[in-house]
Amino acid sequence: MNDFLAIQPQLKSQKIQGRYITHNAIESIVMQFPNKLIGTSVETRPIQAIDIGSGPVKVLMWSQMHGNESTATKALVDVLCYLQQNPAFLAAFTLKVIPILNPDGAAAYTRVNANEVDLNRDAIEQSQPESKLLVDLFHTFMPDYCFNLHDQRTIFGVHDNPCMLSFLSPAADETKKRTTAREKAMGVIGYIKNALQEHIPNQVGRYDDTFNPNCMGDFFTQQGTPTLLFEAGQVGQDYVRLETRKWYGYSILKALESISLALYMPAIYQEIPEVAKSFVDVLIKNISSGNRTVDIALQYVEVLKNDEIIFVPILHKMGELASLNGHKTVDVSGKNIRFSEELALGSNALELSKLLNLTQYSH
Ligand SMILES: [Zn+2]
Repeated sequence: MNDFLAIQPQLKSQKIQGRYITHNAIESIVMQFPNKLIGTSVETRPIQAIDIGSGPVKVLMWSQMHGNESTATKALVDVLCYLQQNPAFLAAFTLKVIPILNPDGAAAYTRVNANEVDLNRDAIEQSQPESKLLVDLFHTFMPDYCFNLHDQRTIFGVHDNPCMLSFLSPAADETKKRTTAREKAMGVIGYIKNALQEHIPNQVGRYDDTFNPNCMGDFFTQQGTPTLLFEAGQVGQDYVRLETRKWYGYSILKALESISLALYMPAIYQEIPEVAKSFVDVLIKNISSGNRTVDIALQYVEVLKNDEIIFVPILHKMGELASLNGHKTVDVSGKNIRFSEELALGSNALELSKLLNLTQYSH
């Protein structure tokens, strides 16, 4: 399956691009696979599941349960198109794939659904049609594995490296004990990490495993099903997350390879460093403010405008920020750029950003 890396740029799924991915954007690709309408969202948008393969191991995957996290959806369609061309790889599996669980959030580009509920905090109550549908499907399909597919914010690093991908085998209870289900998920993640290390060394992190029974991953692990959380992260100026998309798809395939070969590497999972909040989008060093010199951190807020996502720079932190890393770092010492203290934390920093000739991103 290493040919995925060579083939991926030519897959027909590559016509799906950008950060703003809605049900309409992927419908033509979804329709090329056997699929079923499994329910509707609060605003009555269709929610579809793709069924492929008829092998003994059942895997349930879902993406965009947080509507503004679209990298996994694009990686998933890449994987599906790859599997269509390489059906032998599927022999072991029956896959059920929900590309967009939260189509209302995807349309509005929000984390939450149309009732402003975080579907990943609704596992117990299942108060929303989208979360109820996922749990119902879990009970009827009875998967051997679940893949819970997300994007993470740009703030995460692995020590001083940006974190391109992070993973978690969620806890099954407060003691975080290593149940059989957890052990398996850890083993698969260890296998993925081992494969990624030669390609993207030291850019893979492990998420915090504090138990939260209201999160879907913890909930399904508690029911005894190995569940893997995947998170796409930010590296450098790749705000459309093209590189991340490629390695995300590769990771999904490596997870399937691990399961089909029964090759588990839990010891490697244990060695994966925990992600740290060690990055900001832009770090401006040594800017003059009044009669002192400070560092400034900007964070982008993603705003949906005319079907595009605009990255608006916001003043995030100010002071001595030596412990932070920037996806972009600009040192302005010696330059005649002054900064007004009147700009409060949380305010729009577009003018400053223009003054420094920072790229304005939109996707
Ligand atoms: Zn998420």
